[in-house]
Amino acid sequence: MMVTITSTISLPQQVEENMRSKSYQLHIRVKTPVMIAIGKLGTFEFPAGEYVYTGSGKRNIEERVSRHLSRSKLLRWHIDYLLSSPEVQVISYALSEKPECDSNRKTAGDVIVPRFGSTDCRSGCGSHLKFIGPKELSGMDQAPRSRTVSGHRQ
Ligand SMILES: [Zn+2]
Repeated sequence: MMVTITSTISLPQQVEENMRSKSYQLHIRVKTPVMIAIGKLGTFEFPAGEYVYTGSGKRNIEERVSRHLSRSKLLRWHIDYLLSSPEVQVISYALSEKPECDSNRKTAGDVIVPRFGSTDCRSGCGSHLKFIGPKELSGMDQAPRSRTVSGHRQ
């Protein structure tokens, strides 16, 4: 593929959108109930069903999301431990211009792991991973920009 000078001058619409994005949400499915050790937080039982994880990244947010979709990586964040389980898969994701804590608090759900992804959160979220329930998630925040993760569907 040729890269031309003009492509560096006028940014594609997609890139501009991503530059404004401040946070992302991963739509996660746990296929069967599973016990997973989440770093120093301890080991927890995750009920089967749908989850939403809210994270932030000011730069290279697509790279951050791509990293989450990759199976082979060092386990660094709480979300890495969860996604390392074969029973857990990312279904889709969405980018947002809102701060992560705003998106997180608008997501109704139960806390399975207190302080998951929110150990440095100053908004009192309690957890940045929400258990939505055993049923299908009807729609996520910023749905028009959500992407279905190909290759992860059953
Ligand atoms: Zn928060």
